[in-house]
Formats: sequence, C-alpha cells, structure tokens
Amino acid sequence: MSVDPLRASARAIAAAVNARETGATEIAEALLPYVERSDRALGAYLTRTPELLCDYAARVDARVAAGERLALAGVPLAVKDNMCLAGTRTTAGSKILENFVAPYTATAVQRLLDAGALPIGKTNLDEFAMGSSCENSALATTRNPYDVDRVPGGSSGGSAAAVGGFAATIATGSDTGGSIREPAAFCNIVGFKPTYGRISRYGLIAFASSLDQIGPFARSVADAALAYDLMAGKDPLDATSVDRPVEPTVDALRDDLRGVRIGVVREFGLDKLEPPVRAVYERAYADLRGLGAELVDVELPTADYGLATYYLIAPAECSSNLARFDGVRYGLRVDGADVGEMYERTRAAGFGAEVKRRILIGTYALSSGYYDAYYVKAQKARTRIAEDFARAFERCELIVSPAASSPAFGFDAKSDPVAMYLMDYYTIPASLAGLPALSVPCGSAVPSDGARPMPLGLQMMAPLFAERALLGCAHAYEQATKHADKLTPLTMQPEATTSLRAPSGNVA
Ligand code: GLN
Repeated sequence: MSVDPLRASARAIAAAVNARETGATEIAEALLPYVERSDRALGAYLTRTPELLCDYAARVDARVAAGERLALAGVPLAVKDNMCLAGTRTTAGSKILENFVAPYTATAVQRLLDAGALPIGKTNLDEFAMGSSCENSALATTRNPYDVDRVPGGSSGGSAAAVGGFAATIATGSDTGGSIREPAAFCNIVGFKPTYGRISRYGLIAFASSLDQIGPFARSVADAALAYDLMAGKDPLDATSVDRPVEPTVDALRDDLRGVRIGVVREFGLDKLEPPVRAVYERAYADLRGLGAELVDVELPTADYGLATYYLIAPAECSSNLARFDGVRYGLRVDGADVGEMYERTRAAGFGAEVKRRILIGTYALSSGYYDAYYVKAQKARTRIAEDFARAFERCELIVSPAASSPAFGFDAKSDPVAMYLMDYYTIPASLAGLPALSVPCGSAVPSDGARPMPLGLQMMAPLFAERALLGCAHAYEQATKHADKLTPLTMQPEATTSLRAPSGNVA
C-alpha cells in the first residue's frame, strides 16, 4: 500500500486513493484489526460500524473509478456519539438513549461522508457532553492513549482518544465550553472549535444551544483545516448556522508568524500552574516570538467570571433541551401508574447524576423570582466577556493561553463536581463570546502523580470568523515545533497489546 493507513495524514490518504494507488477498501481492511485491538485498551468507541465502513469504502472506490476526486477519499472518520448517523445507535453517552437508532444523519457528518470519509464508529463522551474527563459517560470508560490510567479529557474523550491513539485519522467533536479543546490537549492532537454558527448543529443532540458548536479533531492543523472547510457553511436545516461565505482555510496555512501580534491574557498568568507545566507554556510563548510574532499583554477583566456565567447559562439551556427526554418520544421508557409517574421514573432511571444536577440548577435559575437574579445576570456577564475580547482584539490578531491547567489526570481524581468545572477555566471565555479557538500540541510534562510525560495543548483564540488567521498561525507554530511527533501512544508501541490491560469498566 502506498500510504500507511494508520499514520498517514488525511490529505495523503485522499491523494493516494484519488490517484488509485490504494483503494478505500484496502484502507478499511487494514484499519479494522488495529481499531479492534487498540480499542480493547482505549474504549474510544461505543459502537463500531464495520459493515458501514466497508459499504462506504466500496462507494468511494466506485466514485473514484468513475472519475470523481474526493477531498477525504478513504479517510477513516470517528463520530462523537451525540451526532446522528442514520441507522446507527446514537446514545449521547446516556442510558436514556442507550438503544436509540438515529433516523437521519447530522449535516456536519454527512458533509464529511459525501467527501469520501469512512465511518469507523461512534465515540464515547460524557453524558450529553456534560463533563471534562469523559468519566460521566453512563456506558463505557475511555482511557488516555498516552497513559491508560488517566482520562482522555472530555466531553469528546472518545473522539480524542481515537485520533490520539491512531484509531481514526479525523473525528468530529462538539464544544460547548471546551469539549473539543481540552481532550485534544490531553490526547496530543489538534482540536478546533469554529465560530459559533459556522457549522450546522442539525443532527447534534443539543446540550446548550447558544454555545454548542461542532468541530474537527485531527493529528495536524492541515487535516483539521481540511475537515473544517468541508463541514462549514450555511445549512437550511439549522437556523443558527451563519449565512456567510466560507473562505477556505487550507490555503491560509503559513510557515511563520512575522507581523502577527499575539495577546497574552494578564488574568491567565502562568504563575497559577505547576512549575513543569508552566515551563512548557513559557517555552511555547518564546517559540511564537521566535517565529516572528510580537507578544503583547492584553486584559480580559471579566474572564474570571466565565466559569460562574457558563455554569448558569449552560445548565439553564440544558434543563430546557433535555425536557424532550420524557419516555414518550425517544429512547427509554419506564412505565408508571399514570403519565406523570412514567415521566418521573423514566428520567430518574435514564439520566446520570451530573445531568440531573444540571437540570436542577438550570430549572432553579430559570424559575420566576430567580430568573433576573441568575439567568439575566449571567447573560449580562456574557455580554461583558464578549466586549472584553473585542477590546483585546484591537491590540492583537490572536490570543494564546494554556488549553487546560494540567495534563490528563487520573480516574476519580476530580470526583468533586466543582473541581471538574474548574478544568474549563481557560476554554469557557471563548465559548461564551462565540469565538473560534483551538488547541495545538505544545509539549509534555510528567504529572506530579505520574511516571510518563503527558501531552499539553496551547489554546489559540481569534476574533469571530477569523478561522483563516487562527488555523494559519497554528500551522506555523505546529510545523516549527512538531510536538505531537515527540510522543507515541501506548497502542502504537511494540508489544502494546500484550502489555496493555483491557479496561475493566467497559460495559458497552
Ligand atoms: N466541561 C464543560 C461542561 O461540562 C464543557 C463541556 C462541553 O464543552 N460540552 O459543561
């Protein structure tokens, strides 16, 4: 085969398939045994779809034979399990949807499939995408490909573990407050959340609709840009998708940062970090300077209110969005003496603890008497945060920060929900402002309670719709530093399958 189906970039795979040097079918067949083997250790997938994979591969081969050129010809794709894929189980990581089969396909996923991507399966997530570690999944345990005793990050942990563990070339994620960027950082890959509204949410199971945004995971900025360009754009099926031409980002990738002003947020001072982690970010900032960027101090005085604001708005919206899971229309039903008791029993049995906590907080914040004190106040704070960013972007084209305050932590290390919420400190402000933001690998540090170096991610944020500048500059940093190549996932190391113990927690 002219390309390595596990290690090759999406671009290289598509080029080989389009040139008919390799068939999509060959890629699918080469991939399947590795995915099966590695997933025994990682648990990235909730559902694997080998028949669909082979069907799509045959279709791609036929289309290429008929003379079509496809941007993602034969590229293995993993889909976060809160996005519908027609005919496959779509669970959102919840017992309430454990047996729900999607009757249609999400627009973002459909666009990737139309471009020739091959669906490997549906990946694990925190229940309804609520969490920062993937531990809130009701259905399976996903492990970090760089240390199986640590979490992959969340909520899109399955997608990040699949791409980080080379069991997919690209994947879809959804990011409400950091769920693409944080697991990307933990799994040594690129994770990109575009501007709110850039990619259709049709077919994405809603968590907090004013924040939810689909985006790609990949092992390089160039592959993330390729997937983004295909997914972005107006969709008549999602009224909040933005009707504005998509300027391709793949031709904006650059090799230096000359003339670029990059903001460093004063309130995000690196002194809050453990020394080895802090050293990685100091080095990253120096490398940006070395590439020609000018680093300027910027202020986001309201950034520290981001967490409190988000943890009112997101639960408020989720309490409303999740009202539809009532035992009547979708998924699980637990019968009761009357319809009221049926609702109660269904929701009591179907939702996990974190989802219930958020429904309670959200319902409380929206209730009459408290609405103005909590929800309206949070909306005002959200506006202030967006205004702070707009002011900061008068002084710079990009803003950088850590993607997370630490590398991946161990299972159960953050059993206190508030400790888990604090993980989103750096990612939430951009979500509240709707800004495009990504995480790109920037080095590694050995955690104080660990033995192996674990990856870290550099977050880059840009003004609304400045995807080209964002991905362009991230590419320059990535190409100059090549941090992702310095670590090898355990599943790709010799003897991997014998030395890795199978995850005991998997029930799916
Ligand atoms: N960790 C955040 C939360 O739990 C963000 C999740 C997300 O982006 N989906 O809500």
